[in-house]
Parts: sequence; structure tokens; C-alpha cells
Amino acid sequence: MSWFHTRPVSPGVWLVAEPGHVNCWLVAGTERAVLLDTGLGIAPIRPVVQALTPVPVEAVNSHYHFDHTGGNAEFDRVSIHELGAPLLAAGVPTEVREGYLAYTHRLLAAAETYRDLDRDYFHLLSADSDPRPLPADFVPELWRPRPGIVAHELHDGDVLDLGGRSLTVLHTPGHSPDSVCFLDDRDGLLFGGDTLNTGPIYAQMPDSDVEAFARSTARLAELRAEVRLVLMCHFGRGVAEAQFVRDVAESFDRLVNGDAELRPARDCLLDEAREAVFPQCSILVAPDRGWRR
Ligand SMILES: [Zn+2]
Repeated sequence: MSWFHTRPVSPGVWLVAEPGHVNCWLVAGTERAVLLDTGLGIAPIRPVVQALTPVPVEAVNSHYHFDHTGGNAEFDRVSIHELGAPLLAAGVPTEVREGYLAYTHRLLAAAETYRDLDRDYFHLLSADSDPRPLPADFVPELWRPRPGIVAHELHDGDVLDLGGRSLTVLHTPGHSPDSVCFLDDRDGLLFGGDTLNTGPIYAQMPDSDVEAFARSTARLAELRAEVRLVLMCHFGRGVAEAQFVRDVAESFDRLVNGDAELRPARDCLLDEAREAVFPQCSILVAPDRGWRR
């Protein structure tokens, strides 16, 4: 079984998932294609995406985190927001890499139990969400995400012309300083990076900024008229309707205005956090932030 799951989502757009881990998005025009994020680097991703389109594919990152940039080095050209280039070059701390491998083993063990429950009760698992066994030739001790060399820096408002379609870069800091989203206004597609997610939204990281996150999601909510689908980087529901953008923005608005209960939680690396739970999403914040009313 391939480590990757791919499927078409819209004309010229494919989900390229490492199910249970991270979703990358391939967007092809008539001249060239971009792979929005390159995943964990656990298995080669370039052959997978180049088999989907005849036009040359380059890598464009939504932000610098290792789970979005691990396959960058496979591509001849890598682009990231200007604030992400130095962050990418700094590399991945060993404890983060080891912590993520530990998470992967917990995920695979939990999936055994979850599949049974899902089959009997919930019926939510799909190829998008069901975690796959690690590749037979994968050696955890040798795993190194490969962020490559940045060839091109992105700025807010840049337009990536793919031939017959384009993506507009929207700088949406909050999850990380360099986070961007991409808007395909021809087809009404918003690529949310880690700014929009249907599992816990990570605003608890050392360089997260909750107030900036709230401003960024409010900005995205104003795009709603142009957006038909939202395509996201994590969790088993990587595709949502446009209303989800407004739901997330309203949740952030409540959070920064003190209208949220915070409960103890942990992120995937088991670092402590607090979680604000809203009807349509939840948001992790750092454990020392005091928004309780
Ligand atoms: Zn991230």
C-alpha cells in the first residue's frame, strides 16, 4: 500500500494525503503546477504528484513547519513566505522529530481500536482519514525532513500564474509568523494551510500569535463570497464548505474577547495546552494564556 492517498477534488486539483498526518494539495494549470506543501518526507512525494500531471511541478509551502516541508528537497524550485525562509533554514530540533515519531506510533495503535468502533457505530473513516502503516523501507532513526533550498520568497498579494489559472498569496500570520493561504478565485478554492483546520487549530505553538490569528481569520471570512471550498492541511476532513471560514473566524473572535471556556489539553507532541471548544472547531492556546472570563 502506498504511503500516500491521492484523489481529484476539483478540476486540476488533487488531494495528496499522508492520511492521519498531513494533506498536501496539487494545483495544475496549463503551464505548470504547484504542490502546496510537501509533507513529512517519510516517502518520496515527487513521483506521486508528477504521475498526476504532465506539467512541471514546483513546491510552494504554506509555512515552514517540518510536516509541510519535509519533501521540499525533491523539487527544483521551492517557494515560501519571506518570513519563513530563515525559519526553514534553522532545521528541525531532534526532540520534535522524535516526538512526532512517538505520536505516529500512538496514532497507529489508536487506529486499530478506532476502526472497530467506526465500523460498528460511526462510519466516518475514509481513505482520506485512515492512517496507513509506515513504508516497509522506512527507518525511523534515519528520518530527516528535507526542507531544501528556498528559491523564491512569497509576499502578501503575490499571484502565482500556473497558465489559465492563478493562486493569490494571502499572508495570514497566527499559527506561525510566515503562514499563508492561497486563493484560486477562478474556481473558488481557498487553501487554508494550518490557518484553517477541522481538528484542533494550533495557536499554542511558541511562535503562534492568537490576536494575529484572529485578524487573519477575520480577513479570510471576508473572502467568503469568492470561496466555494476550503482545502486544509490536517485531519480526516480536509475539505469544507465556505461557511467553515466564518465559523473559525467567529470562534477566534470569541476567544480573544474572553467568551470561551478553556479546558486542559495536549497537542500531538504531548505538550501542555488549553483548548477552547466551539460548535464547529476548537483552538489550542498556550497553557499560560489567561482568557478565562
Ligand atoms: Zn504548522
